[in-house]
Amino acid sequence: MNNAHWLERSRAAVWHPCTQMKLHDSGALPLVPIARGAGAWLYDFDGQRYLDAISSWWVNLFGHANPRINAAIHAQLECLEQVILAGFTHAPVVELSERLSALTDGALGHAFYASDGSSAVEIALKMSFHAWHNAGQPQKNRFLCLAGSYHGETLGTLGVGDVGLYKDVYAPLLRQATPLPSPEARQAAPGETATDVAQRAAAALAAVLETGHDAIAALIVEPLVQGAGGMLMYDPEYLRQARALCDRYQVHLIADEIMVGFGRTGTLFAHEQAGIRPDFLCLSKGLTGGYLPLSVVLTTDAVYAQFYDEQITRGFLHSHSYTGNPLACRAALATLDIFAEEDVLTRNRAFADRFTALLRPLATHPQARHFRQRGMIWAVDIATDAADFRLRLFREALRRELLLRPLGNTLYLMPPYILSDSDAELLAERTVAALDAALT
Ligand code: PMP
Repeated sequence: MNNAHWLERSRAAVWHPCTQMKLHDSGALPLVPIARGAGAWLYDFDGQRYLDAISSWWVNLFGHANPRINAAIHAQLECLEQVILAGFTHAPVVELSERLSALTDGALGHAFYASDGSSAVEIALKMSFHAWHNAGQPQKNRFLCLAGSYHGETLGTLGVGDVGLYKDVYAPLLRQATPLPSPEARQAAPGETATDVAQRAAAALAAVLETGHDAIAALIVEPLVQGAGGMLMYDPEYLRQARALCDRYQVHLIADEIMVGFGRTGTLFAHEQAGIRPDFLCLSKGLTGGYLPLSVVLTTDAVYAQFYDEQITRGFLHSHSYTGNPLACRAALATLDIFAEEDVLTRNRAFADRFTALLRPLATHPQARHFRQRGMIWAVDIATDAADFRLRLFREALRRELLLRPLGNTLYLMPPYILSDSDAELLAERTVAALDAALT
């Protein structure tokens, strides 16, 4: 079976996510059938290969078909594939919860599972409100978010998001949170530093909390990098001040680390760079090394205690069928083993320095604006009026064996943590070549 065979069947039967399907049929947006993956490369049915420069929507950490994660899933498959987690428990979910708690030094020792990022965010929002409700403050039922924020696609998560492309049409269905000024560093006025912008945004947060805290349950943020909003990066000072303000005004801090967790920003969790802990930490994507759908919300003893009671309805009566799936938990444990045994964060730091140097031609490209990097994320805005720039760049990248998927006019790279130096050189060179071709 070749590419053409699978393309025809897929177009007829599969409604692809985040896609205007007509673009596939017109050829403006090629649909790429993938037969297999190995390391950082994906292979189609006709023998073409593509370097996965966006880690398959930011999930893959240690490559496709990673032998260690494969082995862990195989072993688990032989003994238990799935069991209800209400009223039952199993070794992988217990071990994973203990390990995640230890990784937050025990500060976030209660793990509640779901299957995708949006569900984790919904859980954190519901838990925050319900905790205040149980504490006798049901009026604390509003949320704050940042301008340009993205937290998922369900109605609850769109309500705390601020990317119009995904949510505007659903406005009548949403309970909209209040978007606050973002601390993202591109907004610096001449002479201003990223820290200045963060302080200005924190002052705006302080003003809103001062008057409105009595009605506010939580502030939700993507720590250090606002992803789908355009890879907008900001100074940790904002998180430090947000934590202090949330404490002062009795408002929960929800850290959505679905994209930035597991080493993406240079530390295991992004919030560590501010020396703080959130009240809720949402994780998914890299949690299983990009293998299986799993998400988790970690929270504190104080939140847990608000639900611990004789009364059933004071409990958190939320569930998903595949909550804490054993195969997914085993993939997550194997992923944490790799972090623990291979000193991934140190290795990434050295790689990031080398790769940033390789990207100099991109950073200094005449149409490049605001080149930025944090940890294993690189992004740059491209100054062009071409309405179809995103599609053109996607196509030109594919022609050069690269999987890139710009966000509007923002070109970003988020490779898996196993890129060889020769693949890194190839990626850097061909990204600029694809950009030049897309701009002509
Ligand atoms: N929050 C953030 C920060 C994300 O980047 C994403 C996914 N891109 C989500 C939430 C939603 O996760 P999922 O797509 O798994 O529902």
